[in-house]
Amino acid sequence: MFVADYIETSLLDWEGKISCVLFLSGCNFRCPWCQNRDLALGKIENRISVVDIIKKFKSKKNWIDGFVITGGEPTVNPNLKKIITEIKNNGFKVKIDTNGSNPDIIKNLIYEGIIDCVAIDIKTSLDKSKYNNACGIKVDLDAVERTIDMLLNVDKSVEVMFRTTLVSGIVDIEDVKEIVKRVKDKKYYIQKFISRNTLDEKYLNIETYSEAKIQEIRKIVDEKNIKRVVVGL
Ligand code: SF4
Repeated sequence: MFVADYIETSLLDWEGKISCVLFLSGCNFRCPWCQNRDLALGKIENRISVVDIIKKFKSKKNWIDGFVITGGEPTVNPNLKKIITEIKNNGFKVKIDTNGSNPDIIKNLIYEGIIDCVAIDIKTSLDKSKYNNACGIKVDLDAVERTIDMLLNVDKSVEVMFRTTLVSGIVDIEDVKEIVKRVKDKKYYIQKFISRNTLDEKYLNIETYSEAKIQEIRKIVDEKNIKRVVVGL
C-alpha cells in the first residue's frame, strides 16, 4: 500500500478538520487545466508506504482528525480499499476526493461503512460536449451522473461535498447556475483556478477570473443558500 506523496497536516482539504493528505498517482481524465500534471499522468510513482505514514500519527492521534485521499483520481487505484481499511483500522476518519467516474467503487466504500466524507468535482454543467471539453476525454457522463445521484441521496452519516474549480473557458456563470440546481441543498464549494503545472501548457497563460467575477459567481451560490467557500489552491 503506497502513495505518491503526502502533506502531513492541512487545514484546507477537509473543512473544519486538520487532515493528512495522501496523493495517489494516476487519473482516467485528462482535464487540460489540471493543476496536478505529473500526478494525473501517473509520472510520480506510488512509493511511500501508507503504513509508515500512519505510524507517524498513531501516537499523536489528536494532531489530525483524519486522512484525505486525493489524486490524480483515487478510484482508479486497485489498492484504494486496502489503504482506506488500514487507515480506518487505526482509528482515523477518511475523506476521498473523486471525479465521479466510478460510482460503483464509491458506492461500495459507502456500503462497507469505511468512508466518512466524499468530495466530488463537477467540472462544468452536465452537458456531454462541455464535459468532454473540460475533462479532455470522452467522459461517461452517465457514470458521473450516477455518482452525483448516489451522493445526493446518501445517508447523513457520510459527509458530501460538491466542488467546482472556476476555470475561464471551462465553466461560466450559467454553468454554475446549472450545477447549483443539480446539487440541491448539499454543500457546494467553488475554488479559484491557479494556473500552474497544468496538463495543457495553454492553460498556464489563460486569463483567470478576476476577484470581481468570482464574487459575482459567489453571489449566485449564496442566493441559493448553499455552503460556499472560495479557496485558492
Ligand atoms: S483535474 Fe482532471 S485530470 Fe487532474 S486529477 Fe482531477 S480529474 Fe484527473
